[in-house]
Amino acid sequence: MTYKTVTLKRGKEESLERFHPWVFSGAIAAADETIEEGELVTVYTHDGKLVGNGHSQIGSIAVRMLTFDDTAIDEAFYEKRLCDAYRMRQNLGLQREDNNAFRLVHGEGDFLPGLVVDIYGPTAVMQAHSPGMHFARNIIAKALTRLPGGIVRNVYYKSETTLPYKAQLDPMNDYIIGSMENDEALENGLRFHVDWLKGQKTGFFVDQRENRSLLEHYSKGRRVLNMFCYTGGFSVYALRGGAELVHSVDSSAKAVRLTDDNVALNFAPEDGRHKSFAEDAFKFLDNMEAGAYDLIILDPPAFAKHKSALRNALVGYRRLNAKALEKIAPGSILFTFSCSQAVNKEQFRLAVFSAAAQTRRKVRILHQLTQPADHPINIYHPEGEYLKGLVLYVE
Ligand code: SAH
Repeated sequence: MTYKTVTLKRGKEESLERFHPWVFSGAIAAADETIEEGELVTVYTHDGKLVGNGHSQIGSIAVRMLTFDDTAIDEAFYEKRLCDAYRMRQNLGLQREDNNAFRLVHGEGDFLPGLVVDIYGPTAVMQAHSPGMHFARNIIAKALTRLPGGIVRNVYYKSETTLPYKAQLDPMNDYIIGSMENDEALENGLRFHVDWLKGQKTGFFVDQRENRSLLEHYSKGRRVLNMFCYTGGFSVYALRGGAELVHSVDSSAKAVRLTDDNVALNFAPEDGRHKSFAEDAFKFLDNMEAGAYDLIILDPPAFAKHKSALRNALVGYRRLNAKALEKIAPGSILFTFSCSQAVNKEQFRLAVFSAAAQTRRKVRILHQLTQPADHPINIYHPEGEYLKGLVLYVE
């Protein structure tokens, strides 16, 4: 099946021949004038060879490729891609009695550029980052309810904050299928309320699941400080891991409430090891007593949303890490993360290195962390790598 035509400039087919899924606007020699934003298009090389089909878009990425042949982009296409994505999660053992929260679709990593779907029990929370996926939302939602085993009964669509050119596209945050059924998700046997209606992104950061497990392993008997706690994921794992105390900090009072609720969902009220603070992380670190904690987690929001903010972001990571490294007790462990896609692992490591050098502490890298298997990186699209973490031993 072919659609309206986009023809590339000579030589601009090279990255597409290696299956990179983006066509930049500067690579286009000619395009059908009637193409509308989000419409399906067929891309051809300068000499008329078919490259594949994709979604058109206004902006520097002009087409996001869905196929590298002439396969039609219809209901059957979405059903097949979603089913493949689900089979992979099943094969990885992510759908279990004690774990029903995972990412089902991670954009380019699942060969569906512009689409993100997270699963929380019977509910799929779907975000479109491209107009093409926005227009396909109803068929995608239907396809989700046809996944093997009928795991999805409700589809909540949340695109108000993810779509470009919002006014023309008429984005929405609402159920496409079903309604609110159960807002509790299970991650490695721990219970979490997920607020997809008002929370950030899809309501929960499933991408830290494996890193939280590693943290649990190191928590026994430690005094833990969880900075930028949001829903308290790391705090709940640290408590289960036998931490002596856990303090959670977030500048948002709502996040602190979510953390308290999630702690209460998993531990008895008389437990008493957890305390939370609605405070700015930098201020909290400035005021904290040296040696008060021997396990600190720094998981801030993306400091660089775009390449242009890179320099400031690196300064931010250095300052934040220096503050923690300065005061952490001897014999401590620091989990430090960056989720900025614009900052690569070498740059992040250099920022942490500078922070360590500044404090003159003896620091060793124990683990280098990344995003989990349900956030796969398409090997042809290295831009899909975004989460970086270091676990440090600080003397
Ligand atoms: N660690 C979390 C995710 C963190 S998201 C998890 O595992 O789920 C980033 C969080 O940082 C948000 O909740 C946001 O409210 C908080 N935040 C942003 N700026 C902050 C600041 N200056 N001080 C403290 N918290 C901040």
